[in-house]
Amino acid sequence: MKTRVVVLGAGFGGLELASTLSEELGDTVDVTLIDKNDAFVFGYSKLDVMFGRTTLDAVRLPYREIAKPGVRFLQETITAIDPEARSVRTEGGVYEADVLVVALGADYDFEATPGLAEGGNEFYSVAGAQRLAGIIPAFSEGHAIIGVCGAPFKCPPAPSECALLLHDYLSARGVRGACEITLVMPLPSPVPPSPDTSRALQDAFAERDIRFVPHRRPSSLHPARRVAVLDDGSELPYDLFLGVPKHRAPDVVIESGMTEDGYVPVDSRTLQTRFPSVYAVGDVTTAGVPKAGVFAEGAARVVAKSLIASIRGGEQPPPYDGIGICYIEFGAGRVGRVEVDFLSGPKPTGTFGEPSDALAADKRHFGSSRRARWFGR
Ligand SMILES: Cc1cc2nc3c(=O)[nH]c(=O)nc-3n(C[C@H](O)[C@H](O)[C@H](O)COP(=O)(O)OP(=O)(O)OC[C@H]3O[C@@H](n4cnc5c(N)ncnc54)[C@H](O)[C@@H]3O)c2cc1C
Repeated sequence: MKTRVVVLGAGFGGLELASTLSEELGDTVDVTLIDKNDAFVFGYSKLDVMFGRTTLDAVRLPYREIAKPGVRFLQETITAIDPEARSVRTEGGVYEADVLVVALGADYDFEATPGLAEGGNEFYSVAGAQRLAGIIPAFSEGHAIIGVCGAPFKCPPAPSECALLLHDYLSARGVRGACEITLVMPLPSPVPPSPDTSRALQDAFAERDIRFVPHRRPSSLHPARRVAVLDDGSELPYDLFLGVPKHRAPDVVIESGMTEDGYVPVDSRTLQTRFPSVYAVGDVTTAGVPKAGVFAEGAARVVAKSLIASIRGGEQPPPYDGIGICYIEFGAGRVGRVEVDFLSGPKPTGTFGEPSDALAADKRHFGSSRRARWFGR
């Protein structure tokens, strides 16, 4: 009997897990990979789409291109998860698993920030980024706020990248002088584990006249007055609001009873949940690492190697190390890098790589290597 591995979610975590299992075990394993969408889009591509640097069509990676021995992809919406029985319901059927891996990511809670849906925009979903691609070109004067409405949030450097890219975009159109840019976030600095990275970003903000408001989050928007109210009660008028909605686990995960304090608790070394043979990886978990693709992918590799060892009989892999590299757009085509280590020491540490053309090439390689590995492109 083949081991039936059901992987919920085909994002960074699910794609890496399915790819590693297929590579090592081929069709001696039975992997079912389920996602409600028909295509994967890298998180950072949303910034490219919103600023018109590319089109959505150019960055969509259709799941139908997945051709891996032992893996079948199903485009279905998961409606219920029973972690005790390791059974999953979708609108298309019920799937029983020997091993269940939850990789459903983090969802957005628009209602947590009254006024955001009506009076603001968000750039954290594909639809939101695409909508903004039609709105930003009409912004030529006034105050733009990039507002992070809650922590934790995906890819902590992304709002800073958004501010720097907006500066470039407005400068190229010759309207930067008529616009103000403010970045509001609930963190003490742009990338807390790496003071060097935070300093470089704050220097870049200062050089570009971007106002940085740390320790604060927009708690509501008043579209009629075009005002954002921050969590200390202060008000900031805006003409363009680019929001990062508060995050939470998808409803179906919360309803499954797997979450505590909003996310799925796991053993951060093995990614096991408290349910036997049920794992969770990536943004849906509280694994002690940031919500970013590189961490979802690293965690998925540990789960895959552990399953391979169990199926073939062999040594279990070393524990998950919580180390990851994030690339950061600094504008003008240059990309910096932060390598963060979340789990090996007593507290997280980060090493900064100065923005350069070479790192921009590394970032392109990061994307192309995953496109090749996951989609055979
Ligand atoms: C603007 C932006 C920039 C970013 N830049 C970077 C970066 O440079 N580097 C980096 O490492 N990370 C970056 N990220 C973060 C990265 O995209 C996420 O952290 C990563 O995708 C998390 O992987 P995951 O596998 O946990 O979840 P996801 O990739 O979010 O995958 C979850 C999947 O589950 C599916 N799903 C959810 N609910 C259901 C359901 N009920 N039924 C079926 N399917 C469902 C979703 O469709 C989705 O495909 C960025 C994010 C944003 C928004």
